[in-house]
Amino acid sequence: MAVDGGVHLSAITKILDETQPEGLGTKVPLPHVLEEGPFAGFTIHSSSATVNAGDVIRNQIDTVLFTHSHLDHISAVVINTAGLPGSRPKRLVGQECTIEALKTHVFNNIIWPNLSDENNGAGLVTYLRLAEGGNPAIGDGGGKGYLELADGLGVKLFSVSHGHCIERKPTRGSSNFRYGSFDTSSTTASPRGAPGSTAASGPPSLFRGSGGGQEKETISVYDSSAYFIRDYATGREILIFGDVEPDSMSLSPRNITIWKEAAPRIVSKDLVAIFIECSYDNSQSDDRLFGHLTPRYIIQELQALAATVEMVAHAPPKFDSTKKRKREAEQGASKANNAAVADGDDRAISPKSTRPAKKGSSVAMTSPDHNGIDTPHIATPTAEVSLTELEADTSETAHVPLTPQSANVLHGLKVIIIHIKEKLVDGDPPGATILSQLQKAESEARLGCEFIISSTGQSFLF
Ligand SMILES: [Zn+2]
Ligand SMILES: [Zn+2]
Repeated sequence: MAVDGGVHLSAITKILDETQPEGLGTKVPLPHVLEEGPFAGFTIHSSSATVNAGDVIRNQIDTVLFTHSHLDHISAVVINTAGLPGSRPKRLVGQECTIEALKTHVFNNIIWPNLSDENNGAGLVTYLRLAEGGNPAIGDGGGKGYLELADGLGVKLFSVSHGHCIERKPTRGSSNFRYGSFDTSSTTASPRGAPGSTAASGPPSLFRGSGGGQEKETISVYDSSAYFIRDYATGREILIFGDVEPDSMSLSPRNITIWKEAAPRIVSKDLVAIFIECSYDNSQSDDRLFGHLTPRYIIQELQALAATVEMVAHAPPKFDSTKKRKREAEQGASKANNAAVADGDDRAISPKSTRPAKKGSSVAMTSPDHNGIDTPHIATPTAEVSLTELEADTSETAHVPLTPQSANVLHGLKVIIIHIKEKLVDGDPPGATILSQLQKAESEARLGCEFIISSTGQSFLF
């Protein structure tokens, strides 16, 4: 199983090149079982790292979990798939909007051939659309809601926000619903610093004349994903984020939902590592984040996680959550129905959702708390530890940055930093700057977690 595939074959080739022994096929007989590196235990049949990497992709990686459809996360998988057909279709997995984007904008016989097994395609890939928050009908105990997508590995997906855009479109008809989305026709608010922000002074609905027609501004939040991946044998889990923005900057703050899901697993020591992006160091200004994180926002998010962990750890181990689950399930069904009824002209062709503002919230939305946003998410019955009380607490106070009361709440947790953007200038490598900024902030916040800067070819054993 792979998560995203921006580099894929070339990175695997590099790893094999660096870990294959000298003299393959002469001093070292083939086939050979690799003894070093992330592919230790894998049998290679060639002295060529490129050929062996092709073997890995063709025969070993069955499933690719996509966090979102941006090019840097899909390009290599898209390009390599045609050249490396295996004996069965590769499974491309993601939330519905990600899959629809791949289907509509990539494998569409224009940008790339339709290699899928839908719409009369070539059948080299097959799509699997995951429900947000897991599938409550599958699995039980600690593995409830996890879908087994590789032998012994279960997966649960959550949506996260990865920036937003403001689109201007001619108005047509009465409804502008996207699948799983909400109409924003009464919304003109923008977050602070956003270009074209007119929320504080603008009317509740903005229509602009253009060439005799009318245009409507629509704010769309771009949906990315985070995956919990669970090893059934040990019960251990990792959490991998795709590109993600901080809740404090988001029009649709959803990281807190993930922290609530993660907190009981940190308390039980099952969640051992979080892979999270840090695209820039702290010198990047807020208006140039483009839906990404910097060290200061990672610390802010981890403080929210730590505060949630504290609440779970100190919560009385009781209460019947059945009623709440039932209520959530009903609400979820009702939202789904609304979306289905209103689903009009603009199907889920792009991984973004339009979000509504509650009445009178436009001023609030220009402040960092974005308190007026109704964040839709499919209700997820949580497993052993229900978080009803936290739910009430945090939804009322989501605009107040959460901070833990005690030190070292996240002790033992590894936070692995991914998606560091190269600056392409002389000076310290960006990873070194980011690590020192994280460590400095951590020493003040006293979270207790360990930061690791990821690098190509690294392997982790938890
Ligand atoms: Zn992205
Ligand atoms: Zn990216």
